[in-house]
Amino acid sequence: MNSMDLSRHDFQLEELIDRIKGHDHRLIALQIPEGLKMQALEMMDEIEDETSAKVILAADPCYGACDLVHDKMKMMGVELVAHMGHSQMNIDSGMPTQFIDVTYDGDPAIDPVLPILAQHRAIAQARLNEGDISGLSEEEAQDRFLDAVGRIAPLKGAKLGLVASIQHLHLVFDYKERFEAAGYVVEVPVGGARLTFPGQVLGCNYSGDDDEIGHYLFLGSGDFHPIGLALHTGKPLAMLDPYTGDASEMGTERIERILRQRFGLIMAIQESQNFAILIGEKPGQMRRSLALKLKRTLAKHGKKGYLLALEHVGPELIDFYPVDAFVNTACPRIAIDDSVKYAKPLVTPFELEVALGEKKWETGYQFDEIP
Ligand code: SF4
Repeated sequence: MNSMDLSRHDFQLEELIDRIKGHDHRLIALQIPEGLKMQALEMMDEIEDETSAKVILAADPCYGACDLVHDKMKMMGVELVAHMGHSQMNIDSGMPTQFIDVTYDGDPAIDPVLPILAQHRAIAQARLNEGDISGLSEEEAQDRFLDAVGRIAPLKGAKLGLVASIQHLHLVFDYKERFEAAGYVVEVPVGGARLTFPGQVLGCNYSGDDDEIGHYLFLGSGDFHPIGLALHTGKPLAMLDPYTGDASEMGTERIERILRQRFGLIMAIQESQNFAILIGEKPGQMRRSLALKLKRTLAKHGKKGYLLALEHVGPELIDFYPVDAFVNTACPRIAIDDSVKYAKPLVTPFELEVALGEKKWETGYQFDEIP
């Protein structure tokens, strides 16, 4: 991100400053995602110049609203946390929080993405006519598991699903009209409680997907959300980047490579005896009940599951344990995006269940979603 881009972001500091003044706060904290941290000191100066509050930067890495620092900040006497770049989740932070979505005012033309959308709509329409998938052989079921696009249950519609990352969400209804004018039937999906806004996606939650949507357009940059969305939905996905105006699509080879890697890991752990089950300590990543359920499932199959709780998950923190493999119940993207960094297999709960025969191949790859 360059400085011109930053000047086009809205950090909503005036509202924050008004709130600090209104409550006469003396100590507040800022929590800022990695990509915006270079702006932190400037913002701290501005807040301290305009109010009587002192500002602490929560400087640990922050990748989502799942990662709230409230308990630690409360211990330091902080009265308000301003959390930037993410929206509020369905977790109780336990202290006053100002969520600031940091919107970007870029508004790219839709023309470059229209040829990609036309191809994707044709794929979706062809899938509408697909038949029943029951009664597949083991080999056919495994092929289906590895198929990046077309592996999910038959569709009921071929609508264009329009989603965006939080910085660009304010544009979705305007873009819905633009794509409708270009001849598309557009749905802005509404997800579950972890998502705050229509059209929103998180790296661990694409719950707005439904069988009326045949293909997607993502308004945003980078491939973090597109990879998750394509893995979760198995639907063609076009991307329009508000920072550059560039249009692209999520290549099926890329998703198939990830699925082949996941398939390899599932095969690799089939004979494993000893597992460590990782529990994330961050408030919005903690899936204690799931971890305990997996421990019971492993025991049922005569295998051992050790429960390890961590705030951050990294190879240097776990690779040395004498187990055969790891099952991750913390942020789902750790297993998907980082597994090559680990010396031993690192799998998702679903992948463990497939390896144990508790889940079937032919239901397609199931993305690990935090509801
Ligand atoms: S759990 Fe992971 S993917 Fe989900 S919001 Fe947190 S950091 Fe993002």
